[in-house]
Amino acid sequence: MMRKLSRAIAALGLAAALAVPAAAAPKAKYVFLFIGDGMALAQINSAAVYANAMSSKEIAIKPLGFSKLPVSGLTTTHDASSFITDSASAGTAMATGNKTLSGVINMDPGKTVKYRTIAEEAKALGMKVGIVSSVSIDHATPASFYAKVPSRSDYYAIGEQLAASGFDYFGGGGFLQPKGKKGDQAELTELAAKAGYKVVAGKERIMALRKGSGKVLAVESLLQDASALHYDMDRPAGAASLADFTRVGIELLGDAPKGFFMMVEGGKIDWACHANDAASSIKDTLAFDAAVSEALAFMAKHPKETLIVVTGDHETGGMSIGFAGTQYSTFFDKVAKQTMSFQRFNDEVVKPYKDKAKKDEADLADLLPAIKAAFGLELGDLTPLQQNELQFAFNRTMGNQVVRAAAEDAYLLYGGYEPLTVKLTQILNQAAGIGWTSYAHTGVPVATFAKGSGQELFGGLYDNTDIYRKLCSAMGIQKKN
Ligand SMILES: [Zn+2]
Repeated sequence: MMRKLSRAIAALGLAAALAVPAAAAPKAKYVFLFIGDGMALAQINSAAVYANAMSSKEIAIKPLGFSKLPVSGLTTTHDASSFITDSASAGTAMATGNKTLSGVINMDPGKTVKYRTIAEEAKALGMKVGIVSSVSIDHATPASFYAKVPSRSDYYAIGEQLAASGFDYFGGGGFLQPKGKKGDQAELTELAAKAGYKVVAGKERIMALRKGSGKVLAVESLLQDASALHYDMDRPAGAASLADFTRVGIELLGDAPKGFFMMVEGGKIDWACHANDAASSIKDTLAFDAAVSEALAFMAKHPKETLIVVTGDHETGGMSIGFAGTQYSTFFDKVAKQTMSFQRFNDEVVKPYKDKAKKDEADLADLLPAIKAAFGLELGDLTPLQQNELQFAFNRTMGNQVVRAAAEDAYLLYGGYEPLTVKLTQILNQAAGIGWTSYAHTGVPVATFAKGSGQELFGGLYDNTDIYRKLCSAMGIQKKN
């Protein structure tokens, strides 16, 4: 008995001795934080159901690469004023560990205290820092890692703070107010160049960047809407993808002696879901997954020192797999018939038609061939109710522009989007068995996945402010906020 006990004590002692080096295990030196904007479980699972439906009739899913990471958790996203956060307060939560008001970036709800971000902490430790986004680089999520402003729409101030950040790599879309609100201020790319950034535009030049380039601001020159990259399904061959920008970031930061922190945002998942366009959400989620694959390839070479965390900032659209009209069935192969995003359909079909057709001569029949090409929908396949809804939406599109505040019913029907186009994606999504409840964000939790050094911190149910604390722990940062 005694002998057993002493053996047990010795074993405990051994465990304690072993615990010392375990506690001093190398900190995460190469840290990736991937944020799918507007990406919660429905966005992830719809992409996985779609990916399977492309090659199989089986009821199965083809998991995304990031959803196979070994540790997963659920993350609550409410902010200081609402269960439904926006990207600014959600970004602030993840970047600084603080809840604030919607619309505020890295300041307290009183808009006087400024918070220090995890990216600034990383920089202070001598790490290199990269910020990548598929939307404009001054948008709320990327800005949450380098800027502090009372309003997320202070785009010029955000751009000035980007130039002054000293961070090593910015990649993705452009600026929303490159010369200020009135266009009378110094060009932001010039400010960045003065601050020592090499400003590089266009895929060819961006992909040619090599380590030792110094501080880089890389902007795709083929942009779509609001200075953002194209929806991935619309991306021209000559335009860099989110994965391309991630790979360039790894090339530029990958050999930093003290490591790096890189935030990569898939920003257009959110924009697609605001517009209730499932095909664009799915394709951008797959493009986001491809960007995570770049980090996984880097991790294969630095397995012990890399940490990859993938999360969302909130859900958008109230997306669901399941719709009243299809009950327990889904037909995701129908989503594949959509060949362009709602945005491209607006730009290339609706707008030219509106410009050309006189209101009293406009006829839905004129657009049917383009509708079939873009969404795979034929009038004869629609129910009488859907046909009526489509005609009604067409009339609204060809009539006066719907003003959100002025027409509550119009907002419920079309969310401030082009009525014809949003009705087309809704009809197609409903036929596939995908439902939507909102044109804004919702308050359901998001999923977080992790792999690598410190991965064990990311299991369970926790708040988005804890992402900051968990990253600090993994990176050996003394929490200051
Ligand atoms: Zn967001």
